[in-house]
Amino acid sequence: MANSAIQAPHPIVSRPIPQDVRLSVSSRDGDQCRYCGGTEGPFHLDHVLPWSRGGDHTEENLVVACQRCNVVKGGRTPEEMGWTLRPVGAHPCEGRKKDPRPTKQRRRPKWFPFASVLERRNLARLEVQAAKIKRAIAKDTAERDRIMKRCEKRMQRERMH
Ligand SMILES: [Zn+2]
Repeated sequence: MANSAIQAPHPIVSRPIPQDVRLSVSSRDGDQCRYCGGTEGPFHLDHVLPWSRGGDHTEENLVVACQRCNVVKGGRTPEEMGWTLRPVGAHPCEGRKKDPRPTKQRRRPKWFPFASVLERRNLARLEVQAAKIKRAIAKDTAERDRIMKRCEKRMQRERMH
């Protein structure tokens, strides 16, 4: 399958999306953003896995996206944005109420361009998980510090008496 094949990094400048692919993605998704469900154009074709990171001009890797989502997403994956793709033909909705906060784009290690599309998806998922764990640890550490401070205060009071 093309998706799991190892791909060479793409050149910076994208080739144009073939007209037949463009047309079939547009007719599949219609005038509705696959990320936010918004029906307010202008619409663009967005690479789910960005071109700059090895994503191809295929129907599987292209979706209709509203300008807002397209711009905010930039060179990130939906996983990195915390977004999920809405199913084809889902009921349209109002779209995003506010701009979602993108995760900071990190510099990719040297070996990254040699990862397959599947491996890149896995990496993106693992990064999201790691970020969640990091936040949970930060929360726990803060809670531990609060308990420690309370105990230290009690200890000091005890000593004064
Ligand atoms: Zn959108």
